[in-house]
Amino acid sequence: MSVIPLHPVQGPASPAKPKHIFMLQFDIVRGCQLRCLGCPTPMIEPKVYRIPVEDFARCLRNIDVERIAYLRLYREGEPLLHRQLASLVAEIPRQSWKASIVEISTNAQWVDWGQFEEAMRLEVVNRLVVSCDGDGTPEEYERLRPPSKWEKLMEFLERARVLRDRWAPAMQLGTRTIVRTRQDAQRWENLLRPMGWTPEFRKWMALPQAKENLTGRVVVVPRGHCVYAADASEFVHKQWFGEMNQLYVDGDGTVVPCCIHPHAAVLGDLRTQRYSEILRDEPRRRLLAAMDSSRATMSICGECDVGPPGDEGPSYWSTFAYWNPEKPELPEG
Ligand code: SF4
Repeated sequence: MSVIPLHPVQGPASPAKPKHIFMLQFDIVRGCQLRCLGCPTPMIEPKVYRIPVEDFARCLRNIDVERIAYLRLYREGEPLLHRQLASLVAEIPRQSWKASIVEISTNAQWVDWGQFEEAMRLEVVNRLVVSCDGDGTPEEYERLRPPSKWEKLMEFLERARVLRDRWAPAMQLGTRTIVRTRQDAQRWENLLRPMGWTPEFRKWMALPQAKENLTGRVVVVPRGHCVYAADASEFVHKQWFGEMNQLYVDGDGTVVPCCIHPHAAVLGDLRTQRYSEILRDEPRRRLLAAMDSSRATMSICGECDVGPPGDEGPSYWSTFAYWNPEKPELPEG
């Protein structure tokens, strides 16, 4: 007589199949045309590679979950350099999973306006974010993000808002803006809000192999594995159905552990492997074991200050340290 278990048998060797991903960042373009001072991407990825639409579709089909909270068509590269942006975006609603927030984050310096408008008309992307740093003046913006031009930023902010109003009124418009002082933040506020954009302020992060460390602090490498590579079970608050899974994908479908460095490690290939397989596979187990036993000796992770859940460190929290007039966190100037 066979016995049919009432519940699936689970153990360390056969953990439950994930149903949810909290954060998915997918580089539809590897590389970027800018040479921003605090970013490692230009040195590591000097050439631009655009993922073919069929590869992108294959990768999305291999994400075997039911829901994704955040899907960012961005990790390290510049997504608007893709010449088939609308075709890529059109693949998203064809999947068996549902994504709540679909975001494009751009440096706003090069746009194929025909492709961009076609993508917006699909009403799939519901958040558009522009990265712009500095003290809110053209000089500092162009110094930090060469060879960016202030006029191109202004043109994008204006034209993208008009297209949003016409084709995708539910889309949120925002910026991610690194500032040093309250005056910097105030200058950006005065500029961006009247144009219909909501700024989100950050501090500098220490990124391994970046051209410059703009944080003003010495990088201290923590012990153990980082919050980006951590297992969903390690997040004590159990948000997002208790499954804080994170998935970071490079421009060719390669799965990597984080958005802090373009290639900290290779965990799998989403063109040929399912997400659930990569999550439990040997490369990820090996990476976590290496971080836990000898993080300081690792070539990239050994230069990174991102710590484990509960002790994430200053670079991780820099992205949440936003400023508002009621809750000043930044120095006066
Ligand atoms: S330690 Fe740093 S570089 Fe390594 S995987 Fe984590 S966030 Fe990425």
